[in-house]
Amino acid sequence: IKKIAVLTSGGDSPGMNAAIRSVVRTCAYHDVECIGIYQGYQGMIDDEFTALDARSVKGIINKGGTFLKSARSQEFRTKEGREKAHKNLLKHNIDALVVIGGDGSFTGGLVFNQEFGFPVIGIPGTIDNDIYGTTHTLGFDTALNTVVDAIDKIRDTASSHNRLFFIEVMGRDVGHIALNAGIAGGAEEILIPEEDLGLDRLVDSLNKSRKSGKTSSIVVVAEGDKIGKNIFELKEYVDQNMEGYDVRVSVLGHMQRGGAPSCFDRVLASRMGVKAVESLLEGKTNYMVGLLDSKMELTPLEKAIKGKTKINLELLRVSDIMTT
Ligand code: ATP
Repeated sequence: IKKIAVLTSGGDSPGMNAAIRSVVRTCAYHDVECIGIYQGYQGMIDDEFTALDARSVKGIINKGGTFLKSARSQEFRTKEGREKAHKNLLKHNIDALVVIGGDGSFTGGLVFNQEFGFPVIGIPGTIDNDIYGTTHTLGFDTALNTVVDAIDKIRDTASSHNRLFFIEVMGRDVGHIALNAGIAGGAEEILIPEEDLGLDRLVDSLNKSRKSGKTSSIVVVAEGDKIGKNIFELKEYVDQNMEGYDVRVSVLGHMQRGGAPSCFDRVLASRMGVKAVESLLEGKTNYMVGLLDSKMELTPLEKAIKGKTKINLELLRVSDIMTT
């Protein structure tokens, strides 16, 4: 393998730049050429390639987002689109591909490999931590810090006005962000899709804490939680069934995906980039690099895509005890 290409695809996450930097520098270290592809798979189809050397990735380890840009490409879902992309890779003499993205991006990479036998390694980049084969996806830790910071700030205003705040956080269908940030932010209740509390129990519990002398409360709600049809209906229900609180909603939204990556994510990105490139150089393909038991490990892409992440039961118990 003499030339490796790298792209970022799907939703962006903090730490993607640090991962690109690591891929580029690991290539340079091993005397392998590196090419950056703009706009994810769409750029592969549109021939948006750029040569990257060790110096071209200076000053980006601390930057959120991805300088290569990310995209969702409908065209790459078609055989014609992937054929165009493959021709471009051959035209540039590229031997292997590093895909930084989520499970959709890995599915694209796997389909591409199956069609053309092109070597692919994935790096899990998403704040949701919803990918099997790694305890931490790239950007998860940064997003947690951002959410905790936001909860702290909302708590200041909640306690000044005897307010009950429902704070919606991201996480797709899983509750990793809500559970971790909820514990760290001292939330009174944490609503996640993995555990169905039920509206009545929620109201009971909030009433109990109200009676115990609490004058303000924070409830962290994962976006995938189904306790209410949406967080505003949840607010309505609680408003009608509880007294003594002014109930408010705050949807944190896309700010959770931005910002400078945390130290943890920068180190993780650096480790993942090294592992990804060196795995390709060892002739491995169709794997995702991940953090398991503090070590860099490979998981077959197929498993990473299909496998379900599990909520940490110990964390769930800690959260139950803390929210007593
Ligand atoms: P996130 O979880 O943050 O949204 P993701 O990687 O899962 O990230 P997707 O939009 O699902 O994001 O996928 C990214 C891109 O991967 C798609 O826009 C598409 O180009 C490609 N892709 C996804 N699934 C397939 C597929 N079955 N065949 C070919 N390409 C695919």
